Amino acid sequence: MHILSKSTYIKGEQCEKALYLFKNRPFLRDKLSMEQRAKFKRGTDVGILAQQLFPGGINMTPNSPSQFSKKVVETLQNLSNPAVNVMYEAVFQYDDTLIMLDIIVRDGDKWRAIEVKSSLSISQTYMKDAALQYYVLKGCNVPLSDIQLMYINADYVKNGDLDLSQLFVFQSVKDYAEQYQDVIAKNIAHFKDIIKQPHSPKINVGDQCDMPYRCEFHGHCWKNIPNDADKPYTIDYKPLYTLLGERNQSTAYLNLLFYRPAVPLFDGDKPYTEFIIGFSILSNNGKFDRIYNWNCLDDLSKWKDSLDILAEQLAGFERVVCFAPQNISAFLQRYNILDSKVLNHKILNFREVLQQSDFHHEKVKSDLSLKNVYESIFLDKTLFEHSRIILNAFSDNQMERELITSDLELENKALREIYQHFNHSK
Ligand code: SF4
Repeated sequence: MHILSKSTYIKGEQCEKALYLFKNRPFLRDKLSMEQRAKFKRGTDVGILAQQLFPGGINMTPNSPSQFSKKVVETLQNLSNPAVNVMYEAVFQYDDTLIMLDIIVRDGDKWRAIEVKSSLSISQTYMKDAALQYYVLKGCNVPLSDIQLMYINADYVKNGDLDLSQLFVFQSVKDYAEQYQDVIAKNIAHFKDIIKQPHSPKINVGDQCDMPYRCEFHGHCWKNIPNDADKPYTIDYKPLYTLLGERNQSTAYLNLLFYRPAVPLFDGDKPYTEFIIGFSILSNNGKFDRIYNWNCLDDLSKWKDSLDILAEQLAGFERVVCFAPQNISAFLQRYNILDSKVLNHKILNFREVLQQSDFHHEKVKSDLSLKNVYESIFLDKTLFEHSRIILNAFSDNQMERELITSDLELENKALREIYQHFNHSK
C-alpha cells in the first residue's frame, strides 16, 4: 500500500499540516465547492480528448482504490509486453509514492511519459508535478525517452473537424525534472515522517492557505481567526456617484451566462473563446417586474440567436446594468448588439463601478463576485450563485440546467438590490 500520491505530495509541498490532516483527520475537510467540481470535470474532458491522439491504448484506471496494487503489477507487465504500445492512467509506485500517468507511449525501445493539462500555458506547479512523476518512473526503472507536458495551443483556430495534432502542444520537462530529483527524495522522506507524528505540525495560517491551491482545511484552521466579515463595507462615494450618473433612467438588469470551453466548438473559434449561452433581463414598468429569459442549453450551436434577441430586448432602455468580470460593452459591441454610439453610455457594469470606487469588504478580498458583494452589503442575507460556475465545465445534468434559469433571475434581482441600494443613497 502506498503512503503518498501525487495529490498528497503536492499538499505536503503547500503545507505540512494540510498533508498531516488529510492523512490523519480527513473528516475535517471543507465540502467541495461547485467551482472545484467544475474544474475537475473540465480537466477530465480534455484528458480523454488527448488520449485520442494516441489511440489503441489500454486504460489502467482502477475501479476502486483497493485495485491500485493490482494495477501497479499490470502496468509493469504491460511495459514488457511488445503488443502494448500505449497506456492511459498507468499506475506506478516507488518509495511508497503512487502516481497515475495520463499517457505513456512506446518510443523505440523506450517510453515517452505525457501528462495532460487543460490550460493554455504551463506553470511551475505543473513542472513540479511532472518531476515527481519522473522520480517514481525512474524508481520503477522505466526506460524513458522523455517526460512531457501536453497542454492546449492558445493559437489554435478550429476549422472543420478538430485537429488534435494542432490543438495540443508538448513541452519536455525532463531537464527540469532531473535537476529536481534530490529535492523530491528528501521531501518524500520528510513527508512520511510528518504523517507518522502523533500530532499535527504547528503551522500558522498564512498565504500558503490559498497558494497555489485553496487548502481544503480552510474552514478548520481559520475558524477561530478573527476577521472583519461583520464590519460594514467601505466605498469612495465621489467616483461612485459620478459613475452612477442620472437617477431616473429606464433601467434593465442584464445577467449574461457565458461559456468558455477549453476545446473550441465552432469554426473560427480559439480555445476558451467565450460566448453567450443564456441570459435573463429584468425590468419594471412601474407596477410589475418583467423578466425575459433565453438560453440555448439544448443546442449550443444556436448561441448566435442571442445576439438579435438581446439587441431587440435592450433597445428600449436608457440604461442596462450588469455585473461581470468580462468587458461587457466590448463584447456587445463586437457583435453589434447595441449601437456603438450609445453603448458606453448605456451599459453600466456594476463590478467595474465598484472597482473604480474602491469598494472594500473582508468578503470581497478573495473575489469580487456578485455573491460576495451582495453578502457584504446585506450582512444578514445570502445569495446562492452557481450557474456560471457549473457552466464553466458545462453541465449535462438536466436538473442543473433548469436551475440555471432560476439562478439567473435570482442573481438579477440581487443585482437590482445592490444597484438601488447605492442609487437611493445618493
Ligand atoms: S488552512 Fe492553511 S494552515 Fe491550515 S492546513 Fe491548510 S494551508 Fe495549512
